[in-house]
Amino acid sequence: MESNKQVALVAHDNRKKDLIEWVDYNWGSLADHKLICTGTTGSLVEDALIKKVEKGKVINIHKLKSGPLGGDQQLGALIAEGKVDVIFFFWDPMEPHPHDVDVKALLRIAVLYNVPTACNRSTADFMISSPLFREEYEPRLTDYTAYVQRNLSS
Ligand code: PGA
Repeated sequence: MESNKQVALVAHDNRKKDLIEWVDYNWGSLADHKLICTGTTGSLVEDALIKKVEKGKVINIHKLKSGPLGGDQQLGALIAEGKVDVIFFFWDPMEPHPHDVDVKALLRIAVLYNVPTACNRSTADFMISSPLFREEYEPRLTDYTAYVQRNLSS
């Protein structure tokens, strides 16, 4: 993982205010990275950053579909392809959602690929203030070759 990172930002509706406040506070640490967001979160993040960065600076945001319309699954696919370095995912612990299964799948794939994942503001603060956020870092991946071979030969 390079010092310039691919940073995923996602928030459920009840957590969007929290995430945008956090983005607003941390814009200086975020604006130089490539940002990947689910649809609605991405538009809000873009609005917040445009107000902060100098005029003319390009903000690099890859907006996926909205979460309930498949955005979480798109993000999961990017993780499996090694295209996401860190995730800030403010999910809502108080409300059920139509795409709860997608949320579960996203969190599972993030653990499987050992991607640092912040699900609340304190963890997000710790992660973004880590020196590793600005440095190269090689996450250790579990080798599943034996698992794949076993299934091929059975
Ligand atoms: P949204 O999706 O950014 O499009 O609201 C987030 C989610 O619900 O997972």
